[in-house]
Amino acid sequence: MQPLQAVKGMNDILPPDSARWEWLEAQMRSVLQRYGYANVRTPIVEPLALFVRGLGEVTDVVEKEMYAFEDKMNGDHLGLRPEGTAGVVRAMVEHSFLREGGKRLYYMGPMFRHERPQKGRYRQFHQMGIEALGFSGPDVDAEVILLARLLWRELGLVEGRDVVLELNCLGQPDERRAHREALIAYLEQHQDVLDEEAKRRMHSNPLRVLDTKNPAMQAMAEAAPKLLDFLGEASLAHFNGVRAILDAAGLAYRINPRLVRGLDYYNLTVFEWVTERLGSQGTICAGGRYDGLVEQLGGKPAPGVGFGLGMERLLLLLEEVGATIPAQTPDAYAIVPSAEGLPQVMVTLESLRAAGVAVVLHPGQGSMKSQFKKADASGAAFALVFGPDELAQGQVAIKPLRQEGAAQYTRELAQAARWAAELRNA
Ligand code: ATP
Ligand code: MG
Repeated sequence: MQPLQAVKGMNDILPPDSARWEWLEAQMRSVLQRYGYANVRTPIVEPLALFVRGLGEVTDVVEKEMYAFEDKMNGDHLGLRPEGTAGVVRAMVEHSFLREGGKRLYYMGPMFRHERPQKGRYRQFHQMGIEALGFSGPDVDAEVILLARLLWRELGLVEGRDVVLELNCLGQPDERRAHREALIAYLEQHQDVLDEEAKRRMHSNPLRVLDTKNPAMQAMAEAAPKLLDFLGEASLAHFNGVRAILDAAGLAYRINPRLVRGLDYYNLTVFEWVTERLGSQGTICAGGRYDGLVEQLGGKPAPGVGFGLGMERLLLLLEEVGATIPAQTPDAYAIVPSAEGLPQVMVTLESLRAAGVAVVLHPGQGSMKSQFKKADASGAAFALVFGPDELAQGQVAIKPLRQEGAAQYTRELAQAARWAAELRNA
């Protein structure tokens, strides 16, 4: 049989690259935990109706990018999740989770969109996302944004240089409706500059027309009626509330009146963390408030705010800025010149591992020279040499590999649990 290949746009993540993923996930969990976010894991496959709700505006994700299929066994219409929010909200409603109050939740995992694969854009990609459900105040919008900022800082990214926050307020449905009508009238007056896609979308999703990358339409988009001018007092107060917190926290941002989201359920605050270093795949993290979604999905009305962060793009950005990502290296590497001593060696290694030492056993035999080479390449701080002479005396020789001029010394095999800490703390 011809060897098969992975589906186009869906990538294997293999060592040593996978270590970067594990490191990033650990950094994220550490930040999330400090803000009180708890992990949720929802299915990758959901009822198609969860994403295609026949409500709201036609979006790219649902219109063009959904992996939808029929379950051959029973004819059910299913979809691979293109994003995480809908599934999390479905789960919260299904399990009446918001009954005793708000919840701060996060997820990490694969999402699926049928797009043209390119750098920073894949058909299976990964998101870390957070959802704060049941909180309506601007403080939580700000918290969600500041959580991302702390993450950037801990990853070694510099605000302003590597990532910039763009902010907008979409108001409430009635404000959007009034703006939408004004906008459609404006677009109808400027049909001559609209491209085919814009003409097609002008009535189904006019806001998205303004998000165009077509240079010939920039001036038209720039001068279009602004949603911010249609906002009422309450929406403006919410927006100003968010801004006051960000200002107090010293976070600089750009107000982008044309910022809209690709999904239809957002209201009030929307934001994107963008970078100029990844070309047109420049949005690393995008989110906002979605106060109508819980009710749309059949739950008792409850507000929500959150974001989705593209993990591939974040890793690309970290590479681009030369951030140092620690490699996964063992503490020690075990060199065994002769197979005879293996039982004794392996029992010792078990004691070391039980005491928390990461120690890799050289597989099979090989010359001392080649085993030392492997030890060096592994990045281990120590080589443990289980030579026949050492074993005969119930000992192991320990050779520090990373300290210039450090001398080799011996330790008793039977006491491994006692000296294990010497290897760990190096
Ligand atoms: P874009 O404008 O780049 O298509 P989007 O608006 O479709 O992004 P969201 O639905 O807001 O993206 O998803 C949140 C984040 O997930 C994005 O900011 C991005 O970092 C990441 N993302 C979205 N689609 C992809 C993809 N196909 N491949 C890799 N990452 C993606
Ligand atoms: Mg997209």
